[in-house]
Amino acid sequence: MISEKMSALARNNSVIRAMFEEGKLLAAKYGSANVYDFSLGNPNFPPPESVKNAIIGVLSDTSAANIHGYMPNAGFPEVRAAVADALNARHGTEYASKNLVMSVGAAGGLNVALKTLLNPGDEVIAVAPYFVEYGNYVRNYDGSLVVVPARAGDFQADAAAIGAAVTARTKAVIINSPNNPTGVVYTESTIREIADVLRAKSEKSGSPVYIISDEPYRELAYGGVRVPWISKYYADTIVCYSWSKSLSLPGERIGYLAVSDECADSAQILEAAAIATRVLGFVNAPSLIQLAVARVLGEEPNLSGYAENRELLYGGLTKLGYECVYPEGAFYLWVKAPGGDDRAFAEAAKKYNILLVPGTSFAGPGYARLAYCVAKETIERALPAFAKLAEELRL
Ligand code: PLP
Repeated sequence: MISEKMSALARNNSVIRAMFEEGKLLAAKYGSANVYDFSLGNPNFPPPESVKNAIIGVLSDTSAANIHGYMPNAGFPEVRAAVADALNARHGTEYASKNLVMSVGAAGGLNVALKTLLNPGDEVIAVAPYFVEYGNYVRNYDGSLVVVPARAGDFQADAAAIGAAVTARTKAVIINSPNNPTGVVYTESTIREIADVLRAKSEKSGSPVYIISDEPYRELAYGGVRVPWISKYYADTIVCYSWSKSLSLPGERIGYLAVSDECADSAQILEAAAIATRVLGFVNAPSLIQLAVARVLGEEPNLSGYAENRELLYGGLTKLGYECVYPEGAFYLWVKAPGGDDRAFAEAAKKYNILLVPGTSFAGPGYARLAYCVAKETIERALPAFAKLAEELRL
């Protein structure tokens, strides 16, 4: 018999994954050109050519003796040094190889960070709406997720509400900006306010409340919007980065944890994170793609492609009467459910072969998420279907 924890998970298996499967069924029935699947954050653009060349380069480099072998659990020292240099050049930080642990994407990084920090019963705060897996990850280590709503209207994190939710058991706050599912980028003043609140709480209790900064969308910010580097504002930060979205590599499972020397107990955290990587069964982040990303650290995501999709979808939907949050980052559009019932909205959309995810799946009822990391033609073809849906919903 399977465990109670897994039984509960199997009962509530991810709505997004279920939609992904449903999308495939609809595509088989109606033809994929006639199904408008906005359900999954799977980047449609291929990785840049430089990534392919980097992989070939690594494989062709006979001087690299250990391409497929074991390595330190934290990852290849030379890869971590290259990532540290790239971060320092970009953010004016002072990371070295020892400050980084290569991870199995952001999901792997978050699990390593939580395993490193949590005792059973510890609390982790997340800002709703939030990436649906956070609760599962926290429960992996018998912690509990405490959900704090974002500010109504602009969906910025609410520092005062976060502060009010901190208890003696609070170990960490997960921050995700650019945000999935809202597309909102937290402003510098939001970050400063959160940092001030958490500093005061940590000083009062004598034990740090860490920020776990979940950053798979860091480079996906449009129109010159700046994404503040959180460690600069709050030292007790563990950054969880991933190349899944920026370089369209979600299947390769590659990212890193970054912990600066100024972070409380940084040496212990880094040592424990490397051990967590091992004992969780990852052992180390995949070696070939570690070596490859180290060769393309200057590479930029396809921002112009996503920005074009953003304008097309946001412009098209608002013209039809849908209320949307204008996304400054990531590749998600957060749309108000006409009538307020997000599940009913998603069901109604399905009749027109439009797949979107009800906000309830992200603890954000009353809204729905559209992932616009799709082909531009999908959006163009979907707009008439959205128009019919708008008619049915009397927008
Ligand atoms: N965090 C957020 C907010 C995400 O949206 C995702 C993936 O969609 C992840 C983490 C996991 O990313 P990765 O593929 O790097 O594990």
